[in-house]
Amino acid sequence: MLTNYHSHSNYCDGSNPLEDYILEAINLGFTGYGFSSHAPLPFACQWAMPNNQIQDYLRRIDYLKNKWKEELMIWKSLEIDYLPKISDERRESLKQLALDYTIGSVHFLDYFADGTPWAIDDSHRKFKLGLDEIFQGDIQKVIKKYYQYIRKMVREEQYTIIGHLDKIKMHNKYFPYFDEQEAWYKEEIDNTLNTIKISSSFIEVNTRGWYKGKSKDLYPSTWILEEIAKKEIPIVLNSDAHMPSEISLGFDFALEKLKTIGFQSLKNYNGIEWVDTPIESILNRTEKTFVYKENIKR
Ligand SMILES: [Zn+2]
Ligand SMILES: [Zn+2]
Repeated sequence: MLTNYHSHSNYCDGSNPLEDYILEAINLGFTGYGFSSHAPLPFACQWAMPNNQIQDYLRRIDYLKNKWKEELMIWKSLEIDYLPKISDERRESLKQLALDYTIGSVHFLDYFADGTPWAIDDSHRKFKLGLDEIFQGDIQKVIKKYYQYIRKMVREEQYTIIGHLDKIKMHNKYFPYFDEQEAWYKEEIDNTLNTIKISSSFIEVNTRGWYKGKSKDLYPSTWILEEIAKKEIPIVLNSDAHMPSEISLGFDFALEKLKTIGFQSLKNYNGIEWVDTPIESILNRTEKTFVYKENIKR
């Protein structure tokens, strides 16, 4: 079972049409592939899918599911932003979409004085601007709000997968804003993991920060993964691909690390339920499947 459940496309901020990712997945020997475009937002945003595209996106995935059903299981999803002030209105309309699963992520923490939303994973310059203008330079306030939103999202929304848990650490690359070993940060993580533990959500192991060079480690960091293993919270492995060449990037690195930490299995969707796939079986399979088969043409 080689899979990736977190993938963008040209319906949002990804580079290619959906089918290009499917062809790459088949070439690499994937067994399942899930699309999770950024769900439309109630304000202008250059990386989210426009609201008038959603039905077309869902229909197109349904068409491709059927077209490639002999080769690959294809799943229909969205990466949904947690937006506390407006989530009640969005919740119901998202429920109507009959998605196979959902990924919940926190990108937006607050608004600038002029009403512009402030995202945590924009450029370092914009991060610093929001930190100073909205939070008076108080990084602890920012981080605590971020994890508080993740906990609220877990409790209120019951998304299948919690996306890139500690992505907010990415700006430490440019400036040492905080040390992950500080007691207050570890407490935030512990509280958040305990909230996820009693929910039905899985934690995503996301390789994108690592292969894009934005983080030295995975999302989440190794020490957090060790805590997740101790608490026996189920995980999924995703690459958060924005182009077809990224669909399995970092998987070898992540699988070896997860095995060393002591994880036995990953969660995988079989169309009916999420089942455990032994990591050993994916590692053994990886070598064979990462070699290209002859190129499948459309
Ligand atoms: Zn995201
Ligand atoms: Zn994403």
